[in-house]
Amino acid sequence: MPDGDVEPVIVRLEGVRKAYKETVAVEHVDLEVRRGEFYTLLGPSGSGKTTTLRLIAGFEKPDRGVIELSGADVTGKPPYERDINTVFQDYALFPHMTVAENIAYGLHAKGVPKHECTVRVEEALRMVRLENFGERQPAQLSGGQRQRVGLARAIVNRPKVLLLDEPLGALDLKLRQEMQSELKRIQEEVKITFLYVTHDQEEALTMSDRIAIFNQGRIVQIGSPTEVYEEPADEFVAGFVGTSNILKRDGRRFVLRPEKVRVAPLGQLFDEAGLHTEEGIVIEAVYVGTFTRYAVGLADGTRIVAIRQNFDRTTACFREEQGSRVQVAWRPDNLFELR
Ligand code: ADP
Repeated sequence: MPDGDVEPVIVRLEGVRKAYKETVAVEHVDLEVRRGEFYTLLGPSGSGKTTTLRLIAGFEKPDRGVIELSGADVTGKPPYERDINTVFQDYALFPHMTVAENIAYGLHAKGVPKHECTVRVEEALRMVRLENFGERQPAQLSGGQRQRVGLARAIVNRPKVLLLDEPLGALDLKLRQEMQSELKRIQEEVKITFLYVTHDQEEALTMSDRIAIFNQGRIVQIGSPTEVYEEPADEFVAGFVGTSNILKRDGRRFVLRPEKVRVAPLGQLFDEAGLHTEEGIVIEAVYVGTFTRYAVGLADGTRIVAIRQNFDRTTACFREEQGSRVQVAWRPDNLFELR
């Protein structure tokens, strides 16, 4: 988001707690989402993301804390008094209505005049690239297209904030990746603030302006994709967002990302000076197509995972590399110390 710092705060949570009987779902949740941001709540299953979204939507009431929308306290307000829409994974389209009727439904309910409805539905269909699908029935659409209709149905209301709870969870990998770029494009076009829930770290990294990382009902870090990846707040974040090597040196702990580790046969020189180099033995070499992943055991017992991009075509059998002696190297400034 350009000029992010000057945009006003649209959603604000302070000291929010919610328990279901003895299960504390979220606690001490503080966050501020700015206008136009693509803001993601990322964490493993059961870490409190959906509860946070439901509290913001007004489906749940916090036991403690304050929820503000555009500076106004809405903590005690019902969902319909909040300028918010939600897109769920299960799009729940009305099967007996056309796509256009599904999208127009909320507008009719609000008493928007008919001609304005038509214009806004067409605009929403164009946004999600389904211009010629208005007269179809939901059953005649693919999963990805149904997902777009679900999105169109929400953006047609032009809410201040759109809440999205794992909206791509039901799609297969390829379609999910396509929809990630689409969602980002749509968000930039409609300029609606998106609050997005996912447990998928790649999804969070590729789409978000900022990410709040949840662990056991608490936010453990808030930052841009590069901040949470390159400078994780703790070992949990380092392990949950991407893969990490944790190196222990003189009682200190450092994160070293696998793609920052070079691997080479013994004796071969690295193409860069000033690298920290160690010898080790290949425990495992896995060919993944675009890259090969190595696990290398160092003399002190540390296991280092390294990723080497396959710049050249190969038919090598990587099993043969297992047990061979290699050297691993990294730039010392690529170590990030954990607090
Ligand atoms: P996430 O969205 O990160 O998977 P949730 O917010 O759904 O996590 O859940 C957080 C915790 O609260 C979990 O331990 C979950 O079992 C519990 N929880 C969520 N909703 C309810 C509910 N309606 N009743 C009882 N426990 C719930």
